[in-house]
Amino acid sequence: MSNNVAFIGLGNMGHPMCTHLERNGFSVFGYDVSPDALSRLKQIGGTPCGTIEEAVREADYVISMVPTGKHVREVYEGRDGVLKHVRPGAILIDCSTIDIESAKVVNAAAAAAGFEMVDAPVSGAQPAAIAGRLIFMIGGTESAYNKAVPPLKAMGQTFIHIGPAGCGQAMKICNNMMTGLSMVAISEMLTMAERLGLDHQTVYDVVTKSSGNCWTLQNYCPVPGPVPTSPANNGYAPGFSAEMMLKDMRLSQHAAAQASAPTALAGAAVAFYQMLVATGHGHSDFSIVYKLISGRLPAEPSQAKVQ
Ligand code: NAD
Repeated sequence: MSNNVAFIGLGNMGHPMCTHLERNGFSVFGYDVSPDALSRLKQIGGTPCGTIEEAVREADYVISMVPTGKHVREVYEGRDGVLKHVRPGAILIDCSTIDIESAKVVNAAAAAAGFEMVDAPVSGAQPAAIAGRLIFMIGGTESAYNKAVPPLKAMGQTFIHIGPAGCGQAMKICNNMMTGLSMVAISEMLTMAERLGLDHQTVYDVVTKSSGNCWTLQNYCPVPGPVPTSPANNGYAPGFSAEMMLKDMRLSQHAAAQASAPTALAGAAVAFYQMLVATGHGHSDFSIVYKLISGRLPAEPSQAKVQ
């Protein structure tokens, strides 16, 4: 095998993932609808391609990292999509976070065309993508899982086979519901702490050593200062955009309705992310929800752009 990877979707996550593939002996042939994203691929040694066909022609693996289920279906099943052009034997890996139904439909279309595919959404967000320490939650057959792991090893540390097609997405949606809820809870806690006269650094130092500690606070602290790498120190540039979090919180509510699972708190959290997007802050990091809750959201959207 030649270790060629066709990588589709070179955004906040896709770009650092490609960097690790290139560093670990894979040759990346990338495609993105954004010319800016494509041009950044050159800087890390990858080959930008003008079409999906060009990217997948010689691929041993196809990895996609695009926003939603609609994009994934277009990428694989579209008129000029992956399934039309990829060579026999290639392993298909979708790392995007999407709805369970789309993951199953695309997996079935791949199987009908003779390809093995997994849904392999990731956790750890952009810091883990940059560090090559992503966690992959994998849905698909045992055989597809085993074949998909080699390129995932270049980008991450943990690869968990959750169950059949769609189970990776089910797991990821549960996890992100917690992250979205945590950020709202942290923002309410920090707002209350400020109004009680406590300073951010003290609150951070105590909570991270106490029962309120969590990953979201340690990595995405929504106030500038305590975590130098958090988006709050960089004008709330993502990171993980508020519109992506709204998408994931909505996925959680859709999945909860299907499963008759009570998720009242997550339902309330959706409204906060919806307000951010409705007021033009969807491209800022989701941690800007702190500014909304603390009454500091600027009337004009911040300058933060999706990178
Ligand atoms: P992003 O918007 O930064 O990147 C997505 C890229 O896909 C963009 O460059 C866009 O131009 C490209 N794209 C869209 N449609 C396309 C198409 N039809 N063909 C080719 N390219 C296309 O988003 P991101 O933050 O990198 O997230 C990507 C996926 O990963 C999402 O499903 C997201 O939920 C998930 N995710 C993101 C994070 C994070 O922290 N950013 C963490 C875990 C999972």
